[in-house]
Amino acid sequence: MSNECLYHEINKNHSSQQHSADVAITVAMGDGIGPEITRATLKVLSAAKARIVTESIDIGEQVYLAGHSSGIRQDAWQSLRRTKVFLKGPITTPSGSGYKSLNVTIRKTLGLYANVRPCISYSPYVHTLHPDMDLVIIRENEEDLYAGIEHRQTDEVYQCLKLITRPGCEKIIRYAFEYARNHGRKKVTCMVKDNIMKMTDGLFYKVFQEIGAEYPDILQDRYIIDIGSARLATRPELFDVIVTSNLYGDIISDIAAELSGSIGLAGSANIGEHVAMFEAIHGCAPDIAGQNIANPSGLLLAAVMMLVHIGQADIAQKIHNAWLKTIEDGIHTKDLKSEYTKVLVTTDQFAEAVIARLGTEPQRFSAVSYQNSTQQQKAVTVAYQPQAAAEKILVGVDVFLHQHQHSADELAQHLKQLETTELELQMITNRGVKVWPDGFPETFCTDHWRCRFMLRPGLTQLAYSDIIRLLSQISGDKLDVIKTENLCSFNGEPGFTLGQGQ
Ligand code: ATP
Repeated sequence: MSNECLYHEINKNHSSQQHSADVAITVAMGDGIGPEITRATLKVLSAAKARIVTESIDIGEQVYLAGHSSGIRQDAWQSLRRTKVFLKGPITTPSGSGYKSLNVTIRKTLGLYANVRPCISYSPYVHTLHPDMDLVIIRENEEDLYAGIEHRQTDEVYQCLKLITRPGCEKIIRYAFEYARNHGRKKVTCMVKDNIMKMTDGLFYKVFQEIGAEYPDILQDRYIIDIGSARLATRPELFDVIVTSNLYGDIISDIAAELSGSIGLAGSANIGEHVAMFEAIHGCAPDIAGQNIANPSGLLLAAVMMLVHIGQADIAQKIHNAWLKTIEDGIHTKDLKSEYTKVLVTTDQFAEAVIARLGTEPQRFSAVSYQNSTQQQKAVTVAYQPQAAAEKILVGVDVFLHQHQHSADELAQHLKQLETTELELQMITNRGVKVWPDGFPETFCTDHWRCRFMLRPGLTQLAYSDIIRLLSQISGDKLDVIKTENLCSFNGEPGFTLGQGQ
């Protein structure tokens, strides 16, 4: 059946008795195996009588190749903003620097701040070393190193800015606690690296503690991301809900999906205050595209999450239980082939097998039960309340220089002569390590020097014009200034970290 026919079929199922409960959703078939698994998923939704009407959009490879470097056209954005619900097949971003990832563009443009990825074992039908694994990773989706703000600063040094914001932390952490509460989960674990990134990851954990205090019914703990990932890889049954920032979440989501046994099984939700997007976690698998052998389960389980989101828990439950029954009946696509496989099926046949089991419940697996509580469906839309502005005092400046001609001591001597009546040189670091005063000859230095000037004793605050005066002295001396960072205190607390070794 062509895509057009399938959309028509779904929409026709409802047109005769279409009523106001029907929910419009936007669907993109995607690239590679996308059309095959999306067609299979839509067939199941139609057979289960999901109360939806679909709008189809084209995104991805064809759109990129037609000259739209973003991979999406204006009319597709309009559909997404109209329906606010998006079921998306996997898409390819062509290689080459001219193309931005459409996945990242959609998430950030539509404010889809929470990536929700359940990772569950289906042992013994899906081989895994961790049969008791049943966890959900809630990954912040918009900020961190994914802000995409990168610069080349010197011959040798490149920079990527890690941006962590209080509103971003509050939204994702509150979402994680609400998710735990509304899904009967007992514990939320925060994963950070705040022993090293004291300000950015420190904020994430601080907000976790603040918001966690409002959820005394939920157990809470914290892991440093390195040992946390190791524990996740060896004892995933220790975890229930994990909340973490964007890059760590990206990495541990794939570890967890792999541990559960098959990348073809997991779906994910990307939730925002206005729009939500549902997709399989795998890519478009070009190696098996067009062969009708792909496993449609990832997208189908994402569609189950979508149905709960739009308030159709009854349909979600019917499909999810039929899917569990299909798996335990040994009806498997090629990727799941094992001694438990009774019938090896194609993508289409798998969808037919799920359809044949609609209305039945699994025997070996526990049947799932979803409720149409409004809390379970929606993003947590607690409006962010900005805190009262802190008393912010300018106390110094870090001046970053590009130079190779001077050693640390020579550079310090030079800069000492350029000090002003307000600012004196306090420290020089190279890649964050203090190299003056009292640097070690063993420390390797690049061409990138951070020179910290602080206000002189007896002064209480600086004006920005004081910094400009210092900068004009430095540039007058033909030193290459890459950038500056103002050093401020906030309510008396320093808004900057010490140099390593300071
Ligand atoms: P992309 O660049 O789009 O991420 P990829 O091939 O690098 O594509 P995946 O698409 O995630 O990454 O595929 C990784 C491997 O898993 C491939 O061997 C693929 O065939 C397999 N795979 C992925 N999804 C499925 C699926 N739904 N059913 C069966 N096998 C799958």
